[in-house]
Amino acid sequence: MEWQGSGKSSVSAGGQPAGGSTASRPTAPATNGLGLSWVGGSGGSSTIAPPDPEAQRLATLKSQLLGALPALPERPRSSSWRQNDLVNRADLIKSIRSDAALQSAFSGWEKLPADVKLAAGNRIAALEGALYGFEPAPIQVDAFLKKPAMGYYHPTEDKVHLSPDTLTDLRQFVNTLTHEQAHAYQWEKGVEAKQGRMDPADPLAATALAWHDNFFEYAQPKDGYEAYRTQSIEAHAFATGDGVAAGVFS
Ligand SMILES: [Zn+2]
Repeated sequence: MEWQGSGKSSVSAGGQPAGGSTASRPTAPATNGLGLSWVGGSGGSSTIAPPDPEAQRLATLKSQLLGALPALPERPRSSSWRQNDLVNRADLIKSIRSDAALQSAFSGWEKLPADVKLAAGNRIAALEGALYGFEPAPIQVDAFLKKPAMGYYHPTEDKVHLSPDTLTDLRQFVNTLTHEQAHAYQWEKGVEAKQGRMDPADPLAATALAWHDNFFEYAQPKDGYEAYRTQSIEAHAFATGDGVAAGVFS
């Protein structure tokens, strides 16, 4: 590797004897009589390091993950919100499975750096937002989040928190992420309905109102797992996360 550093000075050093005086080297500080700066003076050598194919692959993958989404199917227009929700979920599964950038990320998941995993997470969230019709919440890895908690969404800050454990388990990552983004969807639609910005004839209107109220009467797992798991926003979020993970990894 040393040659990469000295290579930077090759122009001025060309033809100079190894023990040449510092005075004759324009790049060496005049105060260094021993010429030791010859080694230390190679700062910035990274700018001329030969390209690292793996680093380049990761940079390309990351920009693909953060790039434009593919064309997505028309939104379902059934008069049943449950029917529309099932179509949205099926379309999300299909779009994840057919996305080249996501599949490339999935195939080497264990070796991906955290920032590329997060880029994949943002792409999945963007697909979920585009298909369900909401603004996905920003994702944050929360080092303080410990099992059994895998993630959470808090409406006040509108952020999805993921535990570091989710990053090491791809299926858990996809499950938790789409589950928590489902909560972001519920909150956006709930507020829309509550504030009268949703057409009362919208098939989702009554459910969105119920979701809104559920956020204010939220049953924590410690209050009893059954009550937690079956309340309306959790029933829908579990169906989303579990359903997407099952569909993507079947
Ligand atoms: Zn939940």
